[in-house]
Amino acid sequence: MNTEKLCLLANQLGCEVIRNGMLRDFTTFKVGGECPLIIAINSEESLSRLICACADGGMRYMVLGKGSNMLCDDKGFDGVILLMGSAFSQIEMIGDCLVRVNAGCSLMKLCRFALDNSLTGLEFAYGIPGTVGGAVYMNAGAYGGEIKDIAEVVYAVDGSGRSREFKRDELGLSYRGSVFQKNGCIITSAVFRLEKGDREQISAKMEQLMSRRREKQPLEFPNAGSTFKRPAGQFAGKLIQDCGLRGLTVGGAQVSKKHCGFVINTGNATSEDIKTLIKQVQDTVLEKTGFFLECEVRIIPYSDTNT
Ligand SMILES: Cc1cc2nc3c(=O)[nH]c(=O)nc-3n(C[C@H](O)[C@H](O)[C@H](O)COP(=O)(O)OP(=O)(O)OC[C@H]3O[C@@H](n4cnc5c(N)ncnc54)[C@H](O)[C@@H]3O)c2cc1C
Repeated sequence: MNTEKLCLLANQLGCEVIRNGMLRDFTTFKVGGECPLIIAINSEESLSRLICACADGGMRYMVLGKGSNMLCDDKGFDGVILLMGSAFSQIEMIGDCLVRVNAGCSLMKLCRFALDNSLTGLEFAYGIPGTVGGAVYMNAGAYGGEIKDIAEVVYAVDGSGRSREFKRDELGLSYRGSVFQKNGCIITSAVFRLEKGDREQISAKMEQLMSRRREKQPLEFPNAGSTFKRPAGQFAGKLIQDCGLRGLTVGGAQVSKKHCGFVINTGNATSEDIKTLIKQVQDTVLEKTGFFLECEVRIIPYSDTNT
């Protein structure tokens, strides 16, 4: 199966197809070169068929949510990008406090749904600019909450195109980790357990956390959230700041002056600029403090052979 044949299949399945799309248009860092084929998936059936076709033809594929935790390569991606299209954004109540939501739904939309239904438990996620799929994959978290606290069941499609169900204790959720980072399954929906709460209090909490984000984070520049994971007992931003790296710049990439835990794109950063800056920060912090800063942002290589 080559790109042309896959494109034909995607069209037959009724999926929207983008040829030679620039990944910078699909990621919050606003960097990344061309991808020959980007397919907005319209149903689980299509997803399954396309995964099988990719597997049969030995084609590399990757799913993209809002691209808010990704650093794509300047050369692009030499495979197929699968976008969870608008068909994957529904939310429904399936019990008093159980919400089933499709993987392409934005966390913000889900948070507003929870608020409208006076459900508490998702306040922490208000302001995280990703999809439900990306949030489960990353076990996204903030301000003391994480997906792990609310996830009941996750539905996915595996590398052979089969539907799979993962119960709470099979999700392997840990600090920014999940079983999906190991098994390659594509998440299609999730069930979250929330609790009845007071609408005014939920709203106040969401607004309070959003204000904290606006005050502390460099939201005026393209970025991908916290660049590094927190080392045990430490804060990455504080270590970087203490090492005197605030504002360190490589080309268009910079350690944010507002929050040292964020690398930002000041306008014309390349992926190489960002990677070089990340390496410089890691080396300096390791040398001066003994802590290794593991990247939280997913660095996506152009091909399987260039890492
Ligand atoms: C301003 C800003 C603030 C942020 N704040 C936070 C924060 O407070 N806490 C936090 O945890 N993160 C934060 N992030 C990072 C990011 O928003 C989260 O990691 C988010 O969960 C990523 O979702 P996404 O849809 O953008 O995923 P993407 O970036 O598109 O993808 C991330 C990874 O998930 C995989 N993936 C995406 N969808 C699926 C799917 N359906 N099935 C299988 N794999 C999938 C991708 O292949 C990729 O490997 C922030 C980012 C920004 C830009």
